[in-house]
Amino acid sequence: MKALVKKYKEVGIWLDNVADPVCGDNDVKIKIRKTAICGTDIHIYKWDDWAQKTIPVPMIIGHEFVGEIVEVGKNVKGLKIGQRVSGEGHITCGYCRNCRAGKRHLCINTKGIGVNVPGAFAEYLVMPAENVFPISDSISDDEASIFDPLGNAVHTVLSFDIVGEDVLITGAGPIGIMGALIAQHIGARHVVITDINDYRIDLAKKCGLKNVIDVKKENLSDVIKKLKMTEGFDVGYEMSGSPVAFNDMLEYLRMGAKIGILGILPDSTQIPWGKVIFKAFIMKFIYGREMFETWYKMSSMIESGLDVKAIITHRFKINDYKDAFEIMASGNSGKVILEWE
Ligand code: NAD
Ligand code: ZN
Repeated sequence: MKALVKKYKEVGIWLDNVADPVCGDNDVKIKIRKTAICGTDIHIYKWDDWAQKTIPVPMIIGHEFVGEIVEVGKNVKGLKIGQRVSGEGHITCGYCRNCRAGKRHLCINTKGIGVNVPGAFAEYLVMPAENVFPISDSISDDEASIFDPLGNAVHTVLSFDIVGEDVLITGAGPIGIMGALIAQHIGARHVVITDINDYRIDLAKKCGLKNVIDVKKENLSDVIKKLKMTEGFDVGYEMSGSPVAFNDMLEYLRMGAKIGILGILPDSTQIPWGKVIFKAFIMKFIYGREMFETWYKMSSMIESGLDVKAIITHRFKINDYKDAFEIMASGNSGKVILEWE
């Protein structure tokens, strides 16, 4: 089969012919229809420090996908050939304390598809049946192909009760924009999202967000006044990975505010402890998606009218994968889809 492979320990990704994966007794084999490129794939493509430390080569990369089941292992129940599915890219052990407590997203032995084990950028993917998520008929292939990053946004935003609250999201990347759309959908009062990249500011507006702030030009204290907020934001979601954005957020949150941190801040990021403690913030750090409550919620929110389709800005046939990676790496895109059929 065709697959996108990290073949060599250098910058790049290669379209290769590899053996079809074998479907084990507890697995399903999926024929991939569409995949989406994640920031992680760009790290692997660029072969940065993290990738060099993490990725064994050769490795089929990719973890955002939608496809169709073509084979079902003999122990698998509840799934059938022809079913349209996406799936959770974190493969968990099933026996550690968290797994046994039903908190699989906190498994201590998590393996990532397309990172530690062969991934989804291929004509076929085999994964444990318990990782598969069936897609309802009312959800398009495009939407299903981005369930993984949408799930990051859902997991983060649903971490707190934001009905009627004022929400600040730093970073209008694909996940920040989807997070803001979720916050608007579930009934926050004001949802403000910030960025510094013109393309992303424009994209956030096109996706239907009302308060998109270019922090190069506008100050959040003016935004707070304009929206007639009195004490600052009630909830902040950090989705930029920028220490500058994170510190700005701490400034404009009210006493006792809640903070969800998804953005991967550099290890060197300082926390102003005085501010954090005396403003009595509540912080939660988010990794991945809850299995499978996050998946259930995102599927049903799409069915209740959450529309994230505009976050997909580019589509490429798999043979044009190089153009796809370049546009994604440039920062001047939303989600970029690779079509395998
Ligand atoms: P992205 O890099 O596409 O988007 C980040 C955005 O933040 C960019 O548009 C950038 O211009 C903006 N930004 C940079 N500096 C800023 C500043 N000072 N103020 C406001 N905005 C600023 O990333 P993404 O794919 O949308 O993901 C969002 C973050 O979540 C990233 O840090 C990513 O690494 C992280 N992530 C974490 C998990 C997890 O499980 N914890 C999973 C996926 C992604
Ligand atoms: Zn486990």
